[in-house]
Amino acid sequence: METHVLRVDPGEPDRRLIALAAQALRSGQLVAFPTETVYGLGANALDPEAIERIFEVKGRPATNPVIVHLAQAKQLGQVAVGFDASVQALVSRFWPGPLTLVLPKQPQLPSNLTAGLDTIAVRVPEHRVAQALIHAAGVPIGAPSANRSTRPSATKAEHVLDDLAGRIEYVIDGGPAILGLESTVIDMTTPKPRLLRPGALPLERLRSVLPQLQGTWPAAPGSEDAAPSPGLQGKHYAPQAKLILLEGPRHAVLNYLRERFHQEQAEGRRVGLLLCSDDLADLTELAADRFDLGQRGKLGMAAVSLFDGLRQLDSLGVDLILTRSFGENDLGFAITDRLRRGASDVIRVE
Ligand code: AMP
Ligand code: MG
Repeated sequence: METHVLRVDPGEPDRRLIALAAQALRSGQLVAFPTETVYGLGANALDPEAIERIFEVKGRPATNPVIVHLAQAKQLGQVAVGFDASVQALVSRFWPGPLTLVLPKQPQLPSNLTAGLDTIAVRVPEHRVAQALIHAAGVPIGAPSANRSTRPSATKAEHVLDDLAGRIEYVIDGGPAILGLESTVIDMTTPKPRLLRPGALPLERLRSVLPQLQGTWPAAPGSEDAAPSPGLQGKHYAPQAKLILLEGPRHAVLNYLRERFHQEQAEGRRVGLLLCSDDLADLTELAADRFDLGQRGKLGMAAVSLFDGLRQLDSLGVDLILTRSFGENDLGFAITDRLRRGASDVIRVE
C-alpha cells in the first residue's frame, strides 16, 4: 500500500484535501493527522473494522482502548452518557484542548474501540487541521497516537511515515504538533475524579475546576500493580537506544553523567545526551551526540521537542541516551512521566 502525504497549511488547511481525507475516513480508511498534542492515527469510531486496523497497524494490544475525538463538545451525547455538572464545567473550560475525559460509554459503540470496557475516553482537539477533518468526516474519530506501539509518539509527519509508511492510506502533514505531549486523561466515572495520565494540560490548571484532583502517580511505571488505565501498563515511549533517566540534585546528576559517559565510551558504546541547554553548556567537554531540549525554565520547549529528540538520537545510531528528570511541577510532571515510562533504567543519585 502506498501512503499518500497531503501537505496543508496548518492555519488554513486546503478544503479539498480535507474533504478527500474525510471521505477516506468515512469509507473505513486510516488517516494520520496533526493535533495540538501529537499526531493521531484516525479511523471512523463507528466502524469496528476500521478500528481493528488501528490496532493492527500500530501493533497495539487489544486491551488498550482508543480515545475518540469529536469536532464539538455538543456532540458528546453521541459517544457518552450520564455526564454531570463537573464534566460540563471541565468541558466548557478546557475544550477544545488537550484534556481527555473517561465517561460511561454510549452502548452502541463498537466494543473494540473501548477494549470491551463500558467507559469511553473522549476529547475535542483544538488544532485547525484536526477540527476541519473531524468536522468534514461527520463521524466521531478514534485516534491513538500515530506511532508503532511502544515507540515515542509522533509529533511530525515524518515520524508517522517512519513508523507507518505503507500501512495506512493517508498522512496529513500540517507541520509539527503544537504542544508535543499527549492529552491529560481524567476518569470521571469514579466517585472522585482520578488522574489516569498526566499530559499537556497541567494539573495545576485542572485544579481551578477540580480542586480535589490528586496529583499522585497513576501507577508506578514498571510496577505490576493493576493500572487504572489499561494503556499505562507495559513499555511505552521507548527509543531503540537504551534510555537512562537520572534523578536527583543537578550537581550530583551531572557528576554521575560525566563518569557514566566515560565508562560507556571506554566500553565502545556511543552515547547520546538528551538535556536542556543549561546542562549541555556544562558538559561541552564530552564528545557525545546531543539533543538540546531548550532552556530548563521553558518546559513548553522541552515538551514540544521531547519525542523528536528521542527519535533523532535513535537515527544517529546511539547505543544509549542519558537524560535528566524534569521534576513534577507543571508540564514537568508529564515530561518526567514519559521519560520514566520510556526508560530502561531510572537511577537516583544524591
Ligand atoms: P494513546 O494511545 O496515546 O491515544 O493513549 C490513550 C490513553 O487513554 C491510554 O492510556 C488508554 O489506556 C487511555 N484510555 C482510553 N480509553 C480509556 C478508558 N475507557 N478507560 C481508561 N483509560 C482509557
Ligand atoms: Mg500512544
